[in-house]
Amino acid sequence: MKIAVIGNGIVGATFVNEILERFPAYQIVQFDGIKGTATTASAGIIAPWLSKRRNKKWYNLARQGAEYMYQIAEKYRMPPAVYFKSGVIYTRDNNEKISALLTLAKDRIKDAPQMEGFRRIDNAEIKQLFNFIQTENNGVLVEGGARIDGQKFVEFLNQRNQTKFELRNERAVLSKNGTDTLVNGEKFDLIVLAVGAWLKDTLSDIGIEALTRPQKGQLIEVELPGQAQVNASAPVLMPEGERDFIPTNQGTLLIGATHENDQGFDLTVSDQIIDDLLASGQRVIPNLDKSMVKNTRVGTRAYTEDFAPFFGYLPNHPQIMVASGLGSSGLTTGPIIGKLLADLVENPELDMTDLTKPLTTYIK
Ligand SMILES: Cc1cc2nc3c(=O)[nH]c(=O)nc-3n(C[C@H](O)[C@H](O)[C@H](O)COP(=O)(O)OP(=O)(O)OC[C@H]3O[C@@H](n4cnc5c(N)ncnc54)[C@H](O)[C@@H]3O)c2cc1C
Repeated sequence: MKIAVIGNGIVGATFVNEILERFPAYQIVQFDGIKGTATTASAGIIAPWLSKRRNKKWYNLARQGAEYMYQIAEKYRMPPAVYFKSGVIYTRDNNEKISALLTLAKDRIKDAPQMEGFRRIDNAEIKQLFNFIQTENNGVLVEGGARIDGQKFVEFLNQRNQTKFELRNERAVLSKNGTDTLVNGEKFDLIVLAVGAWLKDTLSDIGIEALTRPQKGQLIEVELPGQAQVNASAPVLMPEGERDFIPTNQGTLLIGATHENDQGFDLTVSDQIIDDLLASGQRVIPNLDKSMVKNTRVGTRAYTEDFAPFFGYLPNHPQIMVASGLGSSGLTTGPIIGKLLADLVENPELDMTDLTKPLTTYIK
């Protein structure tokens, strides 16, 4: 079996890893040709359980995704710079909101052992973890929440499999030859399009329309001022009404991310957005100023009309699989989607209706 995997983001990398585990003799050629991809820019949070989203399919996928991510991190002993089960804190400005979160957590943990545990966390304890925090709010700690660096995750898997597959740093173009679809003129038994926001563009080469849209995401990495400190094992902090604060292993904090639906594939780091992210940082961290912004990241995610991801065999094209639309929770759903695509290689009839709508919803 000769498979072309187009895309080396979190979906493509996990798919390749899963297939090579199950079928080491398969010939895999992976294409990766775009700058500003979502996984490269991302730094993220894996904690879907207290989300208010009503989409049950998305929740099933994200819940299983958090669990699968933990399993592979353990199995391959991923270092903390790649994946770290840090816990996540949500702060709220009154007790009713905290009670509501605790009630939701109590309900959700029944089907989500990966949450591990949850509890109310008082402001004094939050201040021990983040000695700079200005808020007096209390919160909820979910112990099984984790943080992941998307790019490092992909690099880790690529390195692990480097002698087992071929990675071509080139853009792939699809074309037709009779009933066959070719990749850069070459024939494969299976083509997997793990191309994120570029699905519309890639499929248009063969006259198919994907209803995906680009969403720009930016975040900043800041050094902390004066006596402010954050421990490398600190949880992710999600203060009410503010951006998310993700500790790194170097004592810095990532603050983000934006969700910009009107910027197309633009990758300019915008001053206005940096100021906006910094302003959120300044409300939480006194004395933070612009000179402490050490780094910025920008990338393009794919999203769909109902903000849900989709994946599976392309209708009427048993030789092509696609996955896209992962949006702002793609670090959580991406690895499990990569694994499920590998399951579909083994058994194309598998039922995914609990996890995603039919592909015809997103592909015309
Ligand atoms: C700033 C930011 C913060 C984020 N934070 C979080 C978070 O906290 N939690 C969370 O769960 N998610 C988060 N996300 C979302 C997550 O990063 C994405 O949803 C996910 O990485 C998408 O993965 P993907 O593999 O589908 O796409 P991508 O990572 O975009 O990968 C697409 C791949 O396809 C390749 N490609 C495309 N077209 C072609 C072609 N024609 N030929 C060759 N190669 C091609 C590209 O080179 C790339 O390798 C964040 C995203 C951003 C941008």
